[in-house]
Amino acid sequence: MKEPTRLIHTRVDRGIGKTVNPPIERGSTLLLPTRKTLYDAKPGYGRMGLTVHRELEQALCALENAKQCRLTMNGLQACTLAVGALVKAGDHVLITDSLYGPTSRFCTRRLAAMGVTVTRFNPLQADRLDSLVQDNTTTIVLESPGSLTFDLLDMDTVITTAKAHGLITLFDNTWAAGVTYKPLDHGVDVVMHALTKYPVGHADALGGAVLTRSDSLARRIAECSEDWGIALGPDDAYLALRGLRTLPTRLKQHEASGYTVARWLEHQAPVHHVLHPGLPSHPEHAIWQRDFTGACGLFGLVLNATPPEKLDAFLEALELFGMGFSWGGYESLIIPCDDQLERLDGDRIHARPGPLLRLHIGLEDPDDLIADLANAFTHLA
Ligand SMILES: *Cc1c(COP(=O)(O)O)cnc(C)c1O
Repeated sequence: MKEPTRLIHTRVDRGIGKTVNPPIERGSTLLLPTRKTLYDAKPGYGRMGLTVHRELEQALCALENAKQCRLTMNGLQACTLAVGALVKAGDHVLITDSLYGPTSRFCTRRLAAMGVTVTRFNPLQADRLDSLVQDNTTTIVLESPGSLTFDLLDMDTVITTAKAHGLITLFDNTWAAGVTYKPLDHGVDVVMHALTKYPVGHADALGGAVLTRSDSLARRIAECSEDWGIALGPDDAYLALRGLRTLPTRLKQHEASGYTVARWLEHQAPVHHVLHPGLPSHPEHAIWQRDFTGACGLFGLVLNATPPEKLDAFLEALELFGMGFSWGGYESLIIPCDDQLERLDGDRIHARPGPLLRLHIGLEDPDDLIADLANAFTHLA
C-alpha cells in the first residue's frame, strides 16, 4: 500500500462495531480483576499509554518504516529522551551546528552536567566529521535541513563516517514530517519528531516521538522514558493521530503553495535570496534531489540590507502571516531569525547582507499570501 493509504488504514484491533477513530480514554487507574493481572497487565497504568497511543505508535511506525515508537509530550522531549537514553558519563557526542536550538542547548548544558562532552560541527563540512571523532565518541545528533538556516547535511558521508566508527546516529526529521525523507531507510539508527508541526497540523497540540528499528536501542529508550516518567496525554495523542491521517495530502498543498510563494519571492526587489532546498538556487539542491522526495512549506528568506525600523514596519504590515514560533499548521507564519543565530558558526550565516526571515506557507490561497507580502514590501522601499 502507498503511504496515504497506510496512514489512513493503520488501526489497532478494537473488536467489531467500532467507531472510525479510537476512543480517548482519560485514565490514570486501570481496574484489574486479579492480583496476577494487577502486576502483569500491559498497559496496567495510564502512564503506559492506552488505545489511542497504541494506534498513534503504529501509524508513526508505518510512516517511518520503524519497528518501535515511544511517544513524548513535545518534540524537544523526543530529542532529549533519545539523546539522554543513549549517552552516558564519559562519552563524547557530535552535534550538527544547525540542530534545533533547545536540543543544542540540552546537549551543551545538560549533557555537560552529566559528564558528557559535546563538539558542534559545521553541517556544510560533513567531510571533516571523520577528524572530529575521538576514542570516546559514541553518538551523532543530526537534523537536515536546519530549520532556520536550511543547510543540508550530506547524509551519505555522515552515515559512512558513523558506520566506520561504530557511532549511533540520531536524526530530527521534523522538516520532512516523515514523508519526504526516510532516515531509517538511509541507515540512521534513531529518528525524532516534533508531532507538534505537520502531523498535528492545526497548531492546537504538542507531541513528540522517537522511532527505531533496533530492539536494543528501543529497549534503552523505553527504559529511560519509564525512568523519567515521560507520557503523552490522550487528548494530544488523539490530535496527533487525527492529523496523521491527512498528513500526506496537507503536505502536498503546503509544498505546492511554498514553491509558488518562494519562486515569486526570488524576483522581488527587497529579496537578496531565498533558501528553499527544492529550488535550483539552493546551494545543496543536489543533496536534496538525491535524498528527499519532496519539500514542505517552510523555507528561509534573506533580505537586502534593511534598517530595523523598516523590518518592523514590514512585519507589522503583514495581515495573513502571523508572527509566532512553531510551524506546520494551516496558517502562514513568519519570524525574523537573527536573534537566534548568534550561536551558529559558518560563513554562510554570517556573510548575509540583511536579515534572515523564516516563512511557513499555510493552506491559504498562495495568491492571497503573495498579495499580502507585496503590500508589506512597500514598507521596505
Ligand atoms: C519545533 C521543533 C522541535 C520541538 O518541538 P516542540 O513540540 O515545540 O517541543 C524539535 N525539532 C525541530 C526541528 C522543531 O522544529
